[in-house]
Amino acid sequence: MNQHTPPQAIAFIDVVAQRRRLGQAIDDAVTRVLTHCQFLGGPEVTQFEADLAAFTGARHVVTCASGTDALLMLLMAKGFGPGDAVFCPSFTFCATGEAVALVGATPVFVDVEDSTFNLDPASLVRGIATAQKLGLVPKAVIPVDLFGQSADHDAIAAIAEAEGLFVLDDAAQGFGASYKGRRLGTFGHATATSFFPAKPLGCYGDGGAILTDDTELAETLRSIRVHGQGTDKYDNVRLGLTARLDTIQAAVLIEKLKIFQDEIDARNRVAKRYFDALHNIVTVPRVAEGNVSVWAQYTIRLPRGERDGFATELKARGVPTAIYYPKSLHQQTAYKHYPVAEGGLAISEQLSEEVISLPMHAYLDAATQDRVIQAVRDAVAS
Ligand SMILES: *Cc1c(COP(=O)(O)O)cnc(C)c1O
Repeated sequence: MNQHTPPQAIAFIDVVAQRRRLGQAIDDAVTRVLTHCQFLGGPEVTQFEADLAAFTGARHVVTCASGTDALLMLLMAKGFGPGDAVFCPSFTFCATGEAVALVGATPVFVDVEDSTFNLDPASLVRGIATAQKLGLVPKAVIPVDLFGQSADHDAIAAIAEAEGLFVLDDAAQGFGASYKGRRLGTFGHATATSFFPAKPLGCYGDGGAILTDDTELAETLRSIRVHGQGTDKYDNVRLGLTARLDTIQAAVLIEKLKIFQDEIDARNRVAKRYFDALHNIVTVPRVAEGNVSVWAQYTIRLPRGERDGFATELKARGVPTAIYYPKSLHQQTAYKHYPVAEGGLAISEQLSEEVISLPMHAYLDAATQDRVIQAVRDAVAS
């Protein structure tokens, strides 16, 4: 390569390629909304909720304005608040712990497993003991299906059942993934997900959804979604939010859901190529037996201290990288004062120093991926 010509930049997540593939179908879907002008609560919202129920097997789907609102609405619906402990992995996106803190409950941070980056059931047990010693009442656990891979839902359910915990699956990154042959969306008591554009199933703005088999909970959520409305529109029966998914986003998502399985297959082909080319030179991500990941991220690990130089080398070759997450939640300013499970969160802290994510999306063609792979090889050798 000529030193003076910067290499063509590669997209970290290519939303443009998908836009091209869907082309007219999305334009037509949006045009239909622009024609009927029901921008909130239009027929597409009902349709998309039915499509998601069919896709996951969940009995009820309540769409909402974001993944964060999905978490928040569930915690509000359950009435969690001051004095209640809600257990969250520390190595996750901030929204998981933020929703807990917003309702006034106490997030108690637990560690993750070294192999999957997901909630460690043994640390959850220690976290429950920690909460009890602090005089908090253990109420709920939020497993996160990080980077597209399902948490160990059976192991978590066993502990939750014994302790009477509500299980809220944060599938914002794992939506579409499966655990022991079953699609996420029906594990625990409810599932929250996000349609932020860069998530595996993303819309063209903000969006989210809650999935549950609990009919009463679904009704409460529908009320919270619109200011806590009751059957009489002007007698609000509880506090709520403005948290609806708008009709244009639903129209876009209906079209995207049609090709989602095909995209999941493509992401798995990309992940397989990365594994084959890189597993001998860096620590590649592992998928637990029985899991099918949707690869929201392809996250490798480097020995401590090598990450910045590695990122610089890749950038010079036109290959973008990202660090999810350079600080675990319990290390961040807004969350430092919340309790952590006894025994500490050594894996979360180690991962925050070692992880770096490579470009990953369904439209990463072999030639472009080979450039990424070569850049990784060069950076590791240098
Ligand atoms: C993105 C994300 C959320 C929040 O979703 P938004 O739609 O951005 O509000 C929650 N939890 C996790 C794990 C996420 O990655």
